[in-house]
Order: sequence, then structure tokens, then C-alpha cells
Amino acid sequence: MSFDYDLFVIGGGSGGVRAARVAAGEHGAKVALAEIDRYGGTCVIRGCVPKKLMVFASEFADSVDQARAYGWELGHGPFDWQTFRKNLEGELDRLEEIYRGLLRNSGVTTYDARARIKDAHTVELSTGETISAKHILVATGGYPVRPELPNAHLGIVSDDIFHLPELPKSILIVGGGYIACEFACILHGLGVEVTQYYRGAQILRGFDGEARGLIAEQMRERGIALHTGTNIVDMAPADQERLHAPVEEASALSQPVPDRNDGTNGGPLWVKATNGEENVFDMVMFATGRNPSTADMGLEEVGVTLGRRGEVEVDEYSQTGVPSIYAIGDVTDRVNLTPVAIREGMAFVRTVFGGEPTPVDHDLIPSAIFTQPEMGTIGLSEEDAREQEPVEIYCTSFKPMQSAFAGWSDRVLMKLVVSKETRKVLGCHIVAPNAAEMIQLAGIAVKMGATKEDFDRTVAVHPTMAEEIVTMRAAARRS
Ligand code: NDP
Repeated sequence: MSFDYDLFVIGGGSGGVRAARVAAGEHGAKVALAEIDRYGGTCVIRGCVPKKLMVFASEFADSVDQARAYGWELGHGPFDWQTFRKNLEGELDRLEEIYRGLLRNSGVTTYDARARIKDAHTVELSTGETISAKHILVATGGYPVRPELPNAHLGIVSDDIFHLPELPKSILIVGGGYIACEFACILHGLGVEVTQYYRGAQILRGFDGEARGLIAEQMRERGIALHTGTNIVDMAPADQERLHAPVEEASALSQPVPDRNDGTNGGPLWVKATNGEENVFDMVMFATGRNPSTADMGLEEVGVTLGRRGEVEVDEYSQTGVPSIYAIGDVTDRVNLTPVAIREGMAFVRTVFGGEPTPVDHDLIPSAIFTQPEMGTIGLSEEDAREQEPVEIYCTSFKPMQSAFAGWSDRVLMKLVVSKETRKVLGCHIVAPNAAEMIQLAGIAVKMGATKEDFDRTVAVHPTMAEEIVTMRAAARRS
């Protein structure tokens, strides 16, 4: 049976683009890719990359403060969002063109269209074309979800933040995950008055407890109004009537209003919280999770199984129950990180076009949360490790030299979770400026199975914060 293409990729994000260009460029496969939005996907266009640039922008305020203590005569000017946004748009255009160029130069045919699966070997495009392929790879990523709440459509989501015509004076961020905490710190750094509601007892659920505690403490110290155990129960446009209405009446007033969420600030919002407090914010941002993008793609109709949240179910080779259809990245809801999607794409290509069945290794993945201070982490939290086996905990918390000199009370945390039996480092957690850079390197040792004694044998690099990771002699706790 002959097909139009060897591979048809749906989705031009990090995972899909990598799989397409390696299959075409290195294996000589005939490849096509369809993307309905901008090339580069969530990471490049509305995620990691613009977020990191916003992190850089937001950190200059602290740098100016610290520079003055070091003798520089510097003053705080206002932050000009328009300048940043214009430069950001230019940078994203440049990056998108690089992604398009990578595909072009590898000989991948691209379709700026929405693709729907018609059968195990056929896709239909929104342009009306029907295309056949021996293999189909679904790499459509995910999208931010709002909670079910009256008028939730009036709040923005992370996709919108990069397009705001102006920054709000105040914002309520709902959620306690990566996106909520990162944007709370970013926007605070840019001068926005930030309130954050998280429904659980402590932000960043799933990460090491001590590290979460330190980040929460420092976010509060910097001036973020972080309320745990708190959620929104009601919200509406903040008109005078509502502001002065009794609580029951205000709730009744919260009838759905027309959707004005075009990524702009449509006016102040009245919010009622679970603790009974009522407040008005210029803007509300929901960072309440992301769902896989599988709606109306024809997947279930052709026999692909979807999970509870719409994720494509795949085996260790990223293959679905329909042998010609594979899926990688956030749409499979395994580990939702760009470098993991890229790994999954590479493993798919090696398996299908390289003749080398390659399962994806999802064990011991280092990652970072770009809060201020940052967190870098790999392996088991203290809590999870204790459930698994007897452990020793080595940790230290101290004021880093650079900010302590400027009179700041910021603290950093270096922590190793060590197996009592094998002495292997099961987890490494760092909360510090540049922790993301540190964990990438510490991650190699942990992935290699380094023991605590291997860390101890390594000579410290002095004077650095990271040296503490090899100089912790006595266990702080044992279980
Ligand atoms: P997360 O799943 O990490 O966090 C969602 C947060 O919203 C949780 O705190 C959750 O609470 C809360 N929540 C969920 N539903 C509701 C609700 N109905 N009402 C109130 N709160 C609610 O999602 P994010 O959106 O932060 O990030 C999505 C993914 O993107 C992450 O999993 C991560 O993989 C990736 N990412 C990675 C980054 C990085 O590597 N630095 C940066 C940004 C994103 P609860 O804990 O109680 O469930």
C-alpha cells in the first residue's frame, strides 16, 4: 500500500518539530507536519521562553537594589511594559522563523492547518485536503483550563499574559503549581500588587516539603500576599452596586456576563474567597492546570483510547492502541516538560525509522521552577523517600553572600536525600538564585547513581553557594 507520506505529524511544538525534522533529515523519511497556530508551540510561543524572558525582566528590580549596597548610584525607573512586549514579540517572531526554517531545511512539508484523524492512516485538513501517511504522530500539547466558577471566563490564563496591552496594578493568581508561583514572582518583580490563592495547605504540591516551605516563606517576605487553604467561590465585574451589596445579594448578582476575555484587562473584578473575604482586583489569572488537546481530533473514533482528562494513552514506545498512531509530549500527560517531549520524539523516531525499539526513560528527570528564589530538583522528596526506605537527610540553609552583603534576609536551601542502605543520593533539592543551572549539573551525578560519599569526594568550588552540596558532613535527620 502506498501513502502520501511516511509520517504525518500533528502539532508543531518542541516534540512534533523535533520528531519531524529528525525523521526527514536523518532517516530520509517523507514527512509532513500540520500546525494550526504558531510554530514552536507552547514552550516557544506562550510558555517557557517568553516566561523566562519575563523572569529576567522582573529580576532587574532586585539587582538595582543590591547594586546600590555595592556602591553603585542607581535609581529605580518605571518598568515599561510596552518596550518589553515589543521586544518580546520580535524575539518570538525570530524564534518561530527558526522553527519553520528547521522544518524547511530538513525537507518537511508544512501545512498551516488544523488536522483531524479520519482513519488509521489518513488525516483531513481544515483546508479540505485529505492526506495519507504510514504513521501518524499526535503532538498537539495541552491548553490551560479555568475552574468551573461563575464568570471564570473573565479571568485570564497564562496564554494571555504575554499579550496584555498594559500590566494591571493588582492581580489575583489562582493556583499553587509551577505557573501560578512563577507568575506571582514575575509580576511582583514587575511592580504588580500580587495576591495568590491556593486551595491546599502548601504551594507546589508533590515537591519536597522543606523546599516548598522556604519558597512560600520568601514569596511572602518579598510582599506577595499568598493565601493557602483559600479559593475563589464567586467573581463578577466590580461595579459599585456589587461592592456594596451584602454577600448573599452579591452572589446572586454573579450572573454570567458576555465573554470579554480577549487577553485584555476588561476592568476590575470583584472576588469572594472561601474565607469569606471580598476583594477587588484589576485582573484575575487562573493557573489551575492544563488539559491535553485532543478534542474533536477523531482519535476515539478511530480506536485510540483517551484517559480521564483527554490524554492519549500510549505504551513505553509512545504507541497508541492503533499501531500506526503514536503520541508524544503533553498530549500524553506523562511528564509535561519540553525536554521530555523532545526525548519522546527522538525515541519515537529511533523506534519507527531507526529500527531500534527505544522506550522513553522517565526516571530521575531534573526540573526547575523559576520562582524567586528558584528551585532546582531531581529525584525523591524527603517525604516520598521516607515512604520507600530508610533515609538520611543532609541539608543546610544559609544567607547567600551576594544578597546578605546588601542586607537582605533571603536564605537558600541545599538538600540531599540519601538511601541509608545503598548510600545513593535519591533526591537533590536546591532553592537558591540560579538553582536551575545547578540542578542540571547535580542531576548528572544523581542520574549516574552517585552516592553521598561520591559527592563528599568532590572538592568544593569556593566561594560559591553550590559548594555546600559537597560539604554537608552530618545528617540532619535519619529515618
Ligand atoms: P499544575 O498542575 O502544576 O498546578 C495546577 C494548580 O492549580 C494546582 O496548585 C492545583 O491545586 C490548582 N487547581 C487545579 N484545579 C483547581 C480548581 N478548580 N480550583 C483551584 N485550584 C485548582 O499546573 P500548572 O498550570 O501550574 O502547570 C501545568 C504544567 O506545565 C505543569 O505540570 C508543568 O509540567 C508545566 N510547567 C513547567 C514549568 C517548568 O518546568 N518550570 C513551568 C510552567 C509549567 P492542587 O495542588 O490542589 O491540585
